[in-house]
Amino acid sequence: MRVLKGIGVYKGIAFGKFRMFKRNHINIQKKKIEDVEKEIDRYKTARETAVNELNKLYEKALESVGEEEANIFQVHQMMLQDVDLVSFIENNIKEKMVSAEYSVYEACEKFTEMFSSMEDSYMKERALDVKDISNRLISILTNTKNGNIGSNLFCIIGADDLTPSETMQMDKSNVRGFVTIHGSINSHTAILARTMNIPAVVGLGSQIKPEYEGCEMVVDGFSGTVYINPDITTVKRLKKKKELCEHQKELLQSLKGHPNVTKDGKTIDIYANVGNLADLDGVIKNDAGGIGLFRSEFLYLRRNNYPSEEEQFKIYKEAVLKMNGKRIIIRTMDIGADKKADYFDLPSEANPAMGYRAIRICLDRPLIFKTQLRAIYRASAFGKISLMFPMIISKEEVIRAKEIAREVREGLDRENIAYDREVKIGVMIETPAAVMISDELAKEVDFFSIGTNDLTQYSLAIDRQNNKISGMYNPYHKAILRMIKIVVDNAHKNGIWVGICGELAADETLTGVFLAMGVDELSMSAPFVLGIRKRMTEINVDEIKERILREISF
Ligand code: PEP
Ligand code: MG
Repeated sequence: MRVLKGIGVYKGIAFGKFRMFKRNHINIQKKKIEDVEKEIDRYKTARETAVNELNKLYEKALESVGEEEANIFQVHQMMLQDVDLVSFIENNIKEKMVSAEYSVYEACEKFTEMFSSMEDSYMKERALDVKDISNRLISILTNTKNGNIGSNLFCIIGADDLTPSETMQMDKSNVRGFVTIHGSINSHTAILARTMNIPAVVGLGSQIKPEYEGCEMVVDGFSGTVYINPDITTVKRLKKKKELCEHQKELLQSLKGHPNVTKDGKTIDIYANVGNLADLDGVIKNDAGGIGLFRSEFLYLRRNNYPSEEEQFKIYKEAVLKMNGKRIIIRTMDIGADKKADYFDLPSEANPAMGYRAIRICLDRPLIFKTQLRAIYRASAFGKISLMFPMIISKEEVIRAKEIAREVREGLDRENIAYDREVKIGVMIETPAAVMISDELAKEVDFFSIGTNDLTQYSLAIDRQNNKISGMYNPYHKAILRMIKIVVDNAHKNGIWVGICGELAADETLTGVFLAMGVDELSMSAPFVLGIRKRMTEINVDEIKERILREISF
């Protein structure tokens, strides 16, 4: 038995035979051509075919995994038609008198190198997209197709990294898991694996070897471990873990429709976090009481230009209608840091997490902010929406953001456009500054939501993206727990409610602590909702309160 260690990106256990994904290697010769016009026409036809193929993939992805993940195929269509790429390929054919496929191959080499050498990790990842579109063009031009790995029964697919279109094109009915050499927690493979509920481990490096082809493999996405030819004891242990995991999921289903209530009758709201419309099915399936964090910045990513008011309005309206009267807290865009979109033309910064981002951009570029606020207010006419501002560090920011929201409402009034006059306004408490002035902030807003992900990073001075120091990223640090207590007390003294929407909200080991502190709402990824509901039934808050408050007190 061999044991490999990587990064688990989707929790679950998968058994299957290992199949290395093989791209058909096409040997492209530098062939001289005579008829330039004919060769350019061949390239144009191939490009058109590729765009059509991508369009079909987009439609397929839209249905199966939602708009956010499907968008990559639109990006590929745009990349195929990019003027720089097109003129490079056409000029190459003209000037060097080489075949269309060789020209595409040279373009691929040039553009992948250019993207790979970029500092920005988002741009670096685009190199894979260039390879993807070039492979597609070359396959069409040479009339070759990549091997269909999906025909293998119950397999674990291994790859250096899978491109989005490769993942999407697979017949996934037979794919039990993914393992990749490269990839990070935010790579396309990881995102798609999570969306498709397929256990995956990425970043395995040279541990994946071609000789494992056909071997029995088990993927443990909980611990990021991969077993090759597992021994009987390991198989038994992991089968049990899989059964337990599935059994627990089934048991939790019986909690649907039940209130979130502790042994001694305390109740809180358990909401879900979402990033796009496709996530809403999970919210409903897992019986979340509402949406505690709609990460609206995802609507701005993987696009070439700002989403219009109408586009945003349609998305928010659809979300509101789908939630059928349940509250949706829309966080205004938290663009910047790791979530960049080219068209924002953001400066490159030494410390982007502490840079020009979120509410700072919104207050500096009020037109973009107003467009988003108008879309949100218009959608509020169809359900129960609350607004939330991220990355707040001062009372003045909140006052200014509220002023802009008021101007937006006045504009809608002038135009006789309907909106809900009861839209509540809250702020995220995710900076130490916001914690320390939470008594003042509480007088300005209707609710707080504590973002423990950023609060931990800023309080401990530990970059949440830096793998080297990830062991020191400790959200259980007493400093963080004390801060949460300060915020809860300041909220309640001022008569407002307070929730937690960072990853810590889903941590069952802290549910009792949060209840003892008096947190009113917990918002988390939808699959965790029923687990926290169950955890609540095991807790008697009155019994544990004194001990917990003593343990974290000053
Ligand atoms: C947080 O910082 O805890 C949070 C919920 O926001 P995000 O993870 O999107 O930064
Ligand atoms: Mg945050």
